[in-house]
Amino acid sequence: MGRVTSDDVLNAGKLSKLENDLTKNEKILKEIKDTVKFVSQGDKESLKKLNDIVRDADSKLNQAKEAVKELFQKPAEKIQAEQPIARIPVHNVAVSGSNQVCTLADAPNIKTDVQMLKLVDLMTFENPDGGVWKQGWNVNYDKNKYDKKKLYVFVVPHSHCDPGWVKTLDTYFNDQVKGILDNMVAKLEAYPKMKFMYAEVSFFSMWWSQIDQNKKNRVKKLIEKGQFEIITGGWVMNDEANTHYFAMIDQMIEGNQWLNLTLGVRPESGWAIDPFGHTPTMAYLLKKMNFKNMLIQRVHYAVKKALAKEKQLESLTLLDQYRKKAELYRSNVLFIPVGDDFRYDRGDEWDKQYTNYQKIFDYVNSKSDLNTQIQFGTLTDYFKKLYEVNDVAYGQKPPSYPVLSGDFFTYADRDDHYWSGYYTSRPFYKRLDRVLEYHQRFVKC
Ligand SMILES: [Zn+2]
Repeated sequence: MGRVTSDDVLNAGKLSKLENDLTKNEKILKEIKDTVKFVSQGDKESLKKLNDIVRDADSKLNQAKEAVKELFQKPAEKIQAEQPIARIPVHNVAVSGSNQVCTLADAPNIKTDVQMLKLVDLMTFENPDGGVWKQGWNVNYDKNKYDKKKLYVFVVPHSHCDPGWVKTLDTYFNDQVKGILDNMVAKLEAYPKMKFMYAEVSFFSMWWSQIDQNKKNRVKKLIEKGQFEIITGGWVMNDEANTHYFAMIDQMIEGNQWLNLTLGVRPESGWAIDPFGHTPTMAYLLKKMNFKNMLIQRVHYAVKKALAKEKQLESLTLLDQYRKKAELYRSNVLFIPVGDDFRYDRGDEWDKQYTNYQKIFDYVNSKSDLNTQIQFGTLTDYFKKLYEVNDVAYGQKPPSYPVLSGDFFTYADRDDHYWSGYYTSRPFYKRLDRVLEYHQRFVKC
């Protein structure tokens, strides 16, 4: 396939006009046939009508013929020519309003504290041995600091379920997802202090269609109580590197409409723990969709390290680790995800996670000198506390928090393991995706 040329566009327009004309002519022919029936019975009025119709049909047919002539009499090389459609430079695009600002931009030229392009330019990517924490450095904290400042820790059980990876959608559903969601209902009811987060509506809606009304009511109750939280609400957790923004929007609409119509749920937090790198397009789209928060995860280890050193991440032995982790962030609110791909599919995993963690929580919370509040939580619990301790309204950026512009590509999780192969692998499927999206978009217009 060549590029789409201005001639292609012109020809497509003419072809569609031709189609219209031919459809009209078909209708006219039918009318002629009907009128002939009357004429054969000696109806003068119908004879006049017939004359009008024939004249009209003649002129339409001539127009159609002209269009065909024009289309096919063009020199072959002109039709083949790959003249790209004239592009108007972005800065010349007319914008509405008096301030010459693109209406899609909320606040252009906003002052940013960290610009990724500049940061990456300055980084050496030397990958020194980080000691105990292999990708970092030895983190220390002032032992007295937490005497004055209370540490809030939210331990967040979750299960990430991609509808396509090593198994098919149905095999994943029957082998694991059904178990995860069935157990979610039973175990959250059994352990009222436990919480759980889930994102992929594709699987969730499959499960929902199979459970009885009683179970549906129990799920609604767990959502109301804030024990079970659905975040992002997309059909999937979309890739952010190869994906066209139309596909991102489309899968968000698909999942969120289902959620809203079925459960009346409208997530306010985005949860992207598995995309291999992150694009500002996703953040932009979520903001436009009225999301207040988002959490990302797969960022180049060296970038994480660079941001952590400047505390620009806003992200006993265990408590020591938590305090060290808190040192990397600006706030004294800590988010500790406990989960992975397709976890919590078996009941005993729930039991072990709950009983082990709850014992630690009860111990830490009972020691006032540790000055820590630790509990199971969801993304909303975490962000609520984060806004609260920063004394700002929910969804408002704390004034001291940095603004970052740019993207988090290319992702590397360690050494020189760059996750860029998938940008170009399986080109057939990537192309197929785009063609399908194109047709879908065309039909929706
Ligand atoms: Zn994934």
